[in-house]
Amino acid sequence: MSQVITGKTKLLGVIGHPVEHSLSPIMHNAAIAHLGLDYVYLPLPVHPDNLQAAISGFAAIDLVGFNITIPHKQAIKSLITEISPTAKAIGAINTVWRTSSGTWAGTNTDVEGFIAPLQTYAQDWSEKTAIVLGNGGAARAVVAGCAQLGFGETYVVGRNATKLGEFVGSWHSLLATKLLVRNWDKLPMLIPQANVIINTTPIGMYPNITQSPLSDEEMGLLGTDAIAYDLIYTPSPTKFLQQALTKGATAIDGLEMLVQQGAAALAIWLQQPVPVDVMRQALQNHLT
Ligand code: NAP
Repeated sequence: MSQVITGKTKLLGVIGHPVEHSLSPIMHNAAIAHLGLDYVYLPLPVHPDNLQAAISGFAAIDLVGFNITIPHKQAIKSLITEISPTAKAIGAINTVWRTSSGTWAGTNTDVEGFIAPLQTYAQDWSEKTAIVLGNGGAARAVVAGCAQLGFGETYVVGRNATKLGEFVGSWHSLLATKLLVRNWDKLPMLIPQANVIINTTPIGMYPNITQSPLSDEEMGLLGTDAIAYDLIYTPSPTKFLQQALTKGATAIDGLEMLVQQGAAALAIWLQQPVPVDVMRQALQNHLT
């Protein structure tokens, strides 16, 4: 990195355990360099046992803000003062900043990240149906995003009936989408109705690149005017997206969500527009 660290350099970062794999420093530092700002974004490894001490330490050294990755996205909630309605609904925080009164506030920018690429395809989703494969952490941001876009119906499909029941029961705030859960074996009936089908499972992620959550036969049921959206960004395209492209459908990979959630976080910390193209290019350069 050619950036000069000075006595005035302001600190940003990402906490996780582990955090070595995080791509966030690459895109954030590229944006900071492009803007010519005296900030640096660091990987900050924090063991779960040390989370509270780390957050107190961040206040002591006047850290401007930080991202949160696995396993701290839920645990951080009890350590900050203000939580956005979006983060409350999702039950997880990925972005924290210092307020003017010196307290910590948090939100979840994965929702903005998820919806950004979809917004380029349509404005009115009220007659549309989304099918979400998987019911884990990312699926929560996706469901909140589908509600924000105003999808008529959102089906969450999973393999564990108990977890599906807990998932649908966990949305205390009113969702602006009809949320339904279905077991995996109902997919052949659901796929023909899908306007957007989203893979939030890790199936197909590197190194398991020959795997897909759908069989070729199931993907064959998808309409050619539908969108297949995979949250995975390595490889690109995944097997799931290759199947969709073969079918003639539109494919969106997970890189844009990663870029846009990062851009939304950086805009909160810097309080100014951020160069999304620079962030995207930095990640693309790194991943190729
Ligand atoms: P997670 O909380 O562990 O959830 C994974 C979900 O996938 C669970 O519902 C799990 O089902 C399901 N699943 C796993 N293997 C399955 C299989 N063989 N068959 C059916 N369902 C299966 O993980 P996550 O944090 O949501 O992340 C999921 C994926 O999204 C990862 O690939 C991650 O890299 C990606 N992601 C991308 C972005 C981005 O910015 N692009 C952001 C967040 C996440 P059970 O609950 O039944 O085990």
